[in-house]
Amino acid sequence: MSILVVVDRWFPSSTVCSECGALRSNLFLDVRTWRCRCGAVHDRDVNAARNISAAGLALLACGDGVRPVRAEAHAGSRR
Ligand SMILES: [Zn+2]
Repeated sequence: MSILVVVDRWFPSSTVCSECGALRSNLFLDVRTWRCRCGAVHDRDVNAARNISAAGLALLACGDGVRPVRAEAHAGSRR
């Protein structure tokens, strides 16, 4: 059995740290490797794959879109 899960096209898969959820702004396309402030070093494509996989699994588990929780978003409402 195969299940197709579609993640929002605007999901910032390559610019969100798959370790801590921090969003890296201004990450130009020619930057293929980057270091998050948490210390994690990411290959852009591998990081995007991890984030898309997590988003797809969350979608299957929760039945709704799930956004990564950024450090600055912990205190506020998510919706
Ligand atoms: Zn991080």
